[in-house]
Amino acid sequence: KKWVYLFREGNAQMKSLLGGKGANLAEMTKIGLPVPPGFTISTEACTAFYENNHTLPEELFNQVRTAFTELEATTGKVFGQKEQPLLVSVRSGSVHSMPGMMDTILNLGLNDETVEGLAKLTGNQRFAYDCYRRFIQMFGNVVMGVDHYHFEHLIEKQKGLRSVLLDTDLTTEDWKQVIHKFKECIYMYTKESFPQDPQEQIKKAIVAVFKSWNNQRAQIYRRIHQIPDHLGTAVNVQIMVFGNMGNDSGTGVAFTRNPSTGQKELYGEFLINAQGEDVVAGVRTPEPIIKLKEQMPKIYESFCEIAQKLEAHYSDMQDIEFTIERGKLYILQTRAGKRTAQAAITIACNMVEEGLIDKHDALLRVAPEQLDQMLHPCLDKDAKLDVIAKGLPASPGAASGRIVFEADEAEYLTKQGYKVILVRPETTPEDIHGILAAQGVLTSRGGMTSHAAVVARGMGKACICGCEQIKIDLRKKEMAIGSLTLNEGDFITIDGSTGHVILGEVPLIEPTLSEEFKQLLAWADEVRHLHVRANADNPVDAKKARELGAEGIGLCRTEHMFMEQSRVPIVQQMILAETLEEREEALKKLLPMQKEDFYGIFQAMDGLPVNIRLLDPPLHEFLPNTEELAVEIAKLQCDESMDRMELNKKETLLRKVRNLQEFNPMLGHRGCRLGLIYPEIYAMQIEAIFLAAAQCQTEGIRVIPEIMIPLVGHVNELKTMRELVNEVATKVQTQTGETIPYTVGTMIEVPRAAITAREIAAEADFFSFGTNDLTQTTFGFSRDDAEGKFLHTYVENKILPENPFITLDIEGVGSLVRLGIHEGRSRKPNLKTGICGEHGGEKRSIQFCHDVGLDYVSCSPYRVPLARLSAAQAAL
Ligand code: ADP
Ligand code: MG
Ligand code: MG
Repeated sequence: KKWVYLFREGNAQMKSLLGGKGANLAEMTKIGLPVPPGFTISTEACTAFYENNHTLPEELFNQVRTAFTELEATTGKVFGQKEQPLLVSVRSGSVHSMPGMMDTILNLGLNDETVEGLAKLTGNQRFAYDCYRRFIQMFGNVVMGVDHYHFEHLIEKQKGLRSVLLDTDLTTEDWKQVIHKFKECIYMYTKESFPQDPQEQIKKAIVAVFKSWNNQRAQIYRRIHQIPDHLGTAVNVQIMVFGNMGNDSGTGVAFTRNPSTGQKELYGEFLINAQGEDVVAGVRTPEPIIKLKEQMPKIYESFCEIAQKLEAHYSDMQDIEFTIERGKLYILQTRAGKRTAQAAITIACNMVEEGLIDKHDALLRVAPEQLDQMLHPCLDKDAKLDVIAKGLPASPGAASGRIVFEADEAEYLTKQGYKVILVRPETTPEDIHGILAAQGVLTSRGGMTSHAAVVARGMGKACICGCEQIKIDLRKKEMAIGSLTLNEGDFITIDGSTGHVILGEVPLIEPTLSEEFKQLLAWADEVRHLHVRANADNPVDAKKARELGAEGIGLCRTEHMFMEQSRVPIVQQMILAETLEEREEALKKLLPMQKEDFYGIFQAMDGLPVNIRLLDPPLHEFLPNTEELAVEIAKLQCDESMDRMELNKKETLLRKVRNLQEFNPMLGHRGCRLGLIYPEIYAMQIEAIFLAAAQCQTEGIRVIPEIMIPLVGHVNELKTMRELVNEVATKVQTQTGETIPYTVGTMIEVPRAAITAREIAAEADFFSFGTNDLTQTTFGFSRDDAEGKFLHTYVENKILPENPFITLDIEGVGSLVRLGIHEGRSRKPNLKTGICGEHGGEKRSIQFCHDVGLDYVSCSPYRVPLARLSAAQAAL
C-alpha cells in the first residue's frame, strides 16, 4: 500500500488523503511556486496507526526512506550526515484546518554532530545552535511531553544571567549552555535522554504528530467545529528553510484579504530573523506586513504577486505562511483563510462582483451558523467611552466582562454564570476552552495572525492582541496600564474592531445590517425552496423576525402570554376554579388581554400567516411551587399573630396544587387533553384570536390565522377540537360580520400521530412537526432529565452520534417525519407541512427538511437568516 506521497505527486483535490496542508503544498509545487521539497504521509496511515494499537504500518518506513533518498538527491544533503546535514520539519495537517491544535516539529535531524556541520556549512555558529535549541525544545515538548514552561524558564534564566532582554541577544555560547540544560531537563522529567539518532527522531516525531490528533485541544476544537473524530491527520515532512539566518532572513503570515472585515488588502505580519513558530505561536508581536515593503521591497513585491496568484488559483481568500532565507522567498503553506462572518459575507459579495465566483459559490462560501455573529449587539458609536489602552484589532465585536487570567478559571466562572474576558500575556491553543467560555480575549503579546487570533475569529469571539501597554502579573492576578491597576474580577469592555480596551461595562446596541448581508440573503431567497418562518409570541419578536426575513409565524406559543406577571393571579384563579361559573369569570378577564396580544402580532405580521398554538403545558406550571408554599404555611403557623384566613387560603391552595401535580407532566394532562377536559379555556383563546383578527381586518390589516391543536395522537382528539374552533369562529364571524380566512391543523409530536397521519390529515389543513416533543416521545427521553443526567455521556461515548435535541435524529425521528408527510399527503395532497422544533434553526436539520419536501421551517427570530441561507445551500 502506498502511504507516502512526494509533493510532486499530489494535488489540491487530494485533501482527504493528504490533509489540507499536504494537498496544498503539492498543488503549489505543481504550479511552480517556491515550496521547499518534501513528502506527505497519508491520513490513511494515521487511521492504520490507531487501528493497529498505536503502531505504524511496517511498509511505511521503507517508503519514508525512499522519499528521503529523493530529497537527498535534489538537495545534495544527507539526512543524519555530519558534513552536509539535511534538516526537515515534521508537520501535522488534517483535512479540515485546525490552526495550532496539533503539533509540528522544526529543525529535525540535528544532534551534537550535525549541529557542527550546519554551523560550518552556513558559516554561522550562533544560527546553528539557535536551531538546535529550538529543535530540542519542540521535540522535548511534543514527543517527550515536557512542558514548554520549563524550557522558557531556562531561557529566561540565561537571559537574566547575561542581563539581556531579547532571545536575539544571546550568543552561541549561551545557546550551548541552554542546550545542555535542556537535555538535563528532559532527562529529569522523562528519565530518557534526548535521542541523538536522526532515524529515531523521525520515527518518534511521526508517531507524536499522529498522536496529536487526539490531544485535548484538538478534540475540543473538533467538537466546536463539528469535525468528525475518525478522519486523522497526515504528516508532512519538508526540507527546512531558515528565517533565522540573520537580518536578511525572516518569516511571516499573510491573508490575501482582511479576515476581520473582508476588505481587499494584504493583511499580514512578519518577523526578521525568526522561525515560523515565533509568529504563529504568538510569543513575539510581529511587524505589520507593510513594513516589509520598506525593508525588503523586492521580496515584498514577489510575495504580493504570489499571494494574488494563489487567491486567483483557489478563487478564495488565502492564509499564507512564508519564510525568507537569505533574501530568497519560500512559501510554506496556503489555505482558505478563516474569517469572521462579516469578512465571509463581504469577501463573497466582492468576489462575485470581481467575477471570481458566481452567486451560488458565494452562498456556499458563508457558513450559516456564523451568521448570528452579525446580529450580536455592538458598541454605541456615540457613547462616551473610557478607553484605557489600544491593541491590535484581531477579531471584531464588542464584549464586556470580568477580567480573568487563566483559561480554566474562565471556564469555571462562565459555568457559574459570570461573563468574563480572558486576559493573557499570549494565548496558546491550549487555552481554547477558555476562549470558548469567555466573552472575548485580550492579549498583551502576539499578532493578529497568531493562532489565538485565528481561532477567535473562527469562533466569532471578540479579540484584541498585542496590547503591549498592558503589563500582566499572573501571580498577583492583576494587570497594569500606566498607573491604573486592575484586578481579577474587575469589569472591562473590549472592542475587537478598533482594538480599544475600555474601563467598565458598556451598554451595547443592536447592530445595523450591512448591505452585503442583505444582498447575500436576497440571493439565498432566490434559490431556496423551503419557506422560513419564525417562532414568536409577542409583537416585538414578530417585528424582529419580519425584519430578518421571516415569511410568517410558524409557532406562537400562547402559554407565554399566561406567564406575564400581572396575569398570573387571574390565570391561577382560572385554574383553581371549583365550578364552571367561577372559571368563566376568570376567563372573561383573560379574554381582552389575549385579544390584545393577538392584535399586536397580527398587526406586525400584516399579510403573512400566523400559526397560533392553543394552550399546551400542564396547568400546574402556572401555580406556585409546593415547597415554597409549605414553608410559607409553616412560618404562618409559628406566627403568634397569624391571620387564620390567610393560613386557610394558603392551605387550600397547597392542596389544589398538589392535586394537579403529576408524576410525569411531560406525558400528563397537557396539550389538547386540556382542551378536551376544559373546552372553555380553548374557547376563550379561539374567541380572542378571532376578535383580534376581525378588528385587524376592519382596520385594513390582512390576517391569515392558522389555529394549531397541540399533542394530538388520535384523529378524534383533533376532530373534537376542530369542531370547537369552527363553532367559536362562526360565532365571532357572525357577531362581527367579518369573514376570516383561517385554517385548523395540528402538531405532529407523538409517534402515534405520525403513524396515523393519514387519518389525522382528514381533519387537518396543515401539519407542523413539533420535533422537540417528537424527539422526547420517540426516544422516550424526557428532555429535562436527559440533558442534565445521561445525554452528555451518551454523546461523549458515541452511543448517540449527536444530541438529538440539537441535531435532528434523521434515522429515527426523521423517519417519523417522513412517514407523517407521506401518509398525510396521501390523504390530502395539498396538506401544508412545516417544522417548528428547535431543529428548524439548525443547518443539518434544515437540509433534511428540504430533502423530505417540507413547505417551511420555523425557528427563533435571530435564527431566521441562518435558516434562509441553510435552505439555499440545501437547494444548491
Ligand atoms: P501549524 O499548523 O501550527 O501552523 P505548521 O506545520 O504550519 O503548523 O508549522 C508551524 C510553523 O513552522 C509555520 O509558521 C511554518 O511556516 C513553519 N515551518 C514549517 N515547516 C517549515 C520548514 N520546512 N521550513 C521553515 N519553516 C517551517
Ligand atoms: Mg501553519
Ligand atoms: Mg410540543
